[in-house]
Amino acid sequence: MKAVRGTRDLLPPETALWNRIEATARDVFARYNFGEIRTPVFEDTGLFARGVGEETDIVSKEMYTWEDRARAQSEKTQSLTLRPENTAGVVRAYIEHGLGESGLLQKLYYIGPQFRRERPQKGRYRQFSQIGAEVIGPPSAGSESPLRDAEVLEMLSTLLDELGIKGWILHLNSVGSSADRARYNDALRAALVPVVGQMCVDCQRRAETNPLRVLDCKVPTDQPFIETLPVIADSLDEESKKHYAAVTAALDAAGVPYTRNHRLVRGLDYYTRTTFEFTHGGLGAQNALLGGGRYDGLSEMLGGPRAPGIGFAMGEDRLVLTLLAQQEGESVVTKADAYIAPLGDKEKADELVKLNAAALGLARELRHQGLWIELGEGSFRLKKSFDAADKTARQIVILGEDELQSGILTVKNFSTGVQSKVPRGELAVFLSIPANE
Ligand code: ATP
Ligand code: MG
Repeated sequence: MKAVRGTRDLLPPETALWNRIEATARDVFARYNFGEIRTPVFEDTGLFARGVGEETDIVSKEMYTWEDRARAQSEKTQSLTLRPENTAGVVRAYIEHGLGESGLLQKLYYIGPQFRRERPQKGRYRQFSQIGAEVIGPPSAGSESPLRDAEVLEMLSTLLDELGIKGWILHLNSVGSSADRARYNDALRAALVPVVGQMCVDCQRRAETNPLRVLDCKVPTDQPFIETLPVIADSLDEESKKHYAAVTAALDAAGVPYTRNHRLVRGLDYYTRTTFEFTHGGLGAQNALLGGGRYDGLSEMLGGPRAPGIGFAMGEDRLVLTLLAQQEGESVVTKADAYIAPLGDKEKADELVKLNAAALGLARELRHQGLWIELGEGSFRLKKSFDAADKTARQIVILGEDELQSGILTVKNFSTGVQSKVPRGELAVFLSIPANE
């Protein structure tokens, strides 16, 4: 049996990198006063149809949806979907638990698996993990303020820096209000009329249904035409322009670098104003590390109160790919501090039982003192113990009948080759000193 196409097992030592990424993210979120939210992995299909949008690729072709049959008369058959993203679930929870009633801004983060039926390739999987956050609340809590947008972007730059991601680029844009976008759509439609006949079939369809989407087109021969189209910045009203200018002024003051990308638009009605993406050159075609933006109308779309918000979702798999590529050449194997090798006489079963038991006791003592310990097996020959120890640990501790009697252990350090006699009481300190390398 094999893991399903587009899914994969994460194994050590790579999982240590995943854990480090998640620990760094939790630490940064805590410093910005975010709390963790955990929503279910599946939800009612209608949530995503409304909360992500029927016309998006995600909802129209990428969701894992099934009919969940009723098990009792009182139950109804329900259409359920594995979450393809987490914002809809967070906003549903915000509404369901009346989080806005506190009058405070809600700052929530999540880390977890998402599911999309996409064509699997490097950086694109059917089960992948996102690290994301949302800032949402009633307007009276300041949820519409451009300072919130700038703070989220500044936090992201801090997080990527602390993760050690080098050379990220922040692409920033404003898609304005829905009235701004309607104006822009008209301008685009008019500008497309003379050229769209020479563009790809997808663009010909988009020019009719949703001209904004033309800006997402990746077909090389379409690019010269797209470059000549009007930009959304010219369709923004005064309020939207002021909001965007305030975001960039705060970013400038904080020293966060960004580049305006006029083509970065989101096709959904409730997206408003600030939109952004962080990319990394090392990722190839799937170069987006994360995407996000403002969604001032989403809560109302889901039947909730007015609750403007801004958020992002970061692809954890792509963070790992980027960091692994950066580390190439460096050793990522982490070794235990010591391998404890009970060494007995194979022929004397009773003695082996006693030595193995003593070795477990010693391992327990050292582990309680914070050391990473690998435990061997008394029936191994000396050579087999040394081979196993060399692969998994920095040092080997030999525990034979003599050592057990005298309380003085033999320690060998693999990188220096030095062998030492260490009293049991000093063992933990001795093993933990990196200078022994
Ligand atoms: P892309 O253009 O790469 O398809 P997207 O617009 O579908 O991205 P979002 O829905 O904004 O992506 O999700 C946010 C982030 O989640 C992306 O920037 C990416 O890092 C990550 N991501 C999205 N889909 C996948 C996937 N199938 N496998 C791995 N990571 C993904
Ligand atoms: Mg996608």
